[in-house]
Amino acid sequence: MPVRLLRVILVLLLTAVVSSCRKPPGEPVFVITPGVPPSPAGLESTASPSETIAVEQPETLQLPPAVTPSDTATAPAVPGVRVISLSIHGSLYASLEAHGCDRPDVISAHLVRCLWWRMNPWRDICAGDSLVFLYADSSEGIENQTVALHYIPVSGSAVQPFSVYLFRKTGDNYPSYFYSDGTEIAELLNTMPISTFEEITGVYSEPRGDHVHGGIDFKAPEGTPVRTARGGVVSRTDWNFDNNGHCVEIAMGGGYSEIFLHLSSIAPGVAPGASIAAGAPVGAVGSTGHSYAPHLHYQINDENGYPIDPVLFFGTHQRVLDGADLTAFRAFRDRCDGMMSAGGLQ
Ligand SMILES: [Zn+2]
Repeated sequence: MPVRLLRVILVLLLTAVVSSCRKPPGEPVFVITPGVPPSPAGLESTASPSETIAVEQPETLQLPPAVTPSDTATAPAVPGVRVISLSIHGSLYASLEAHGCDRPDVISAHLVRCLWWRMNPWRDICAGDSLVFLYADSSEGIENQTVALHYIPVSGSAVQPFSVYLFRKTGDNYPSYFYSDGTEIAELLNTMPISTFEEITGVYSEPRGDHVHGGIDFKAPEGTPVRTARGGVVSRTDWNFDNNGHCVEIAMGGGYSEIFLHLSSIAPGVAPGASIAAGAPVGAVGSTGHSYAPHLHYQINDENGYPIDPVLFFGTHQRVLDGADLTAFRAFRDRCDGMMSAGGLQ
């Protein structure tokens, strides 16, 4: 047999072997990066990270400008901050309305975001509970105008009393809420899809009229980068645009998928069938589809396509203030407590 013919046969054989080793297109690729917490049971995958096409990642995220020092974290006891002392009768909304508060819908929405980490504000609020809070007439830093609050449950309630205070941690772009000991109230996902955001404005299983909310809403400036937590294969983009706007679904392996809604744009290379690495950009925050303000709706679906709680899926952590932040926070907390005591139920 001529040498040339042998060479051709060898090349054909090698091609066949390589092709049979290659994963068929569309098969989920599950990538774990160092430092990512363990997966829930059933999420393990044998896929090799080397088969994943990395989407270009910038070295640093484009962050929005930091809020100015004039925010409520540094100047709390200023004109325009009022003390409201509320006795609960019926819902929070009804109690605010009975108290004569203007915009009870807006104020109750703001208050609920300060409560839902510690209690279920749609179920656990009891007649006889008290709520004393500082509310700013306007807030430069974030939409939520709640500056601080005490929640005092009625005797015998399963809820323990607690207080929260708005404070901007060094290095953060926005203030956030902390309990009186300096622990942040928000439980951040151990793998976050977004590195900076104004506030979590929606949580999993939150009642919303005729349905419950299936994910977490991160309010953030339009254009804020959004990243896949674990990577995988893009299964679809831009389905049901009227509701979801620009959107991406990524199959993470084990039947689980990661869903991003209301994006202003989708990152280059993120298209059905593409494999993307953990932490790679998926797109940017927007307000496309059924959305009232720029935010990321982030959702995890199980193998049957039902939303599951991202908090349980990824696990969470709470940040704790320390050093100079903790000192400044304690002084601010004490000023707020003084204002609330003076105008409260004492
Ligand atoms: Zn949402």
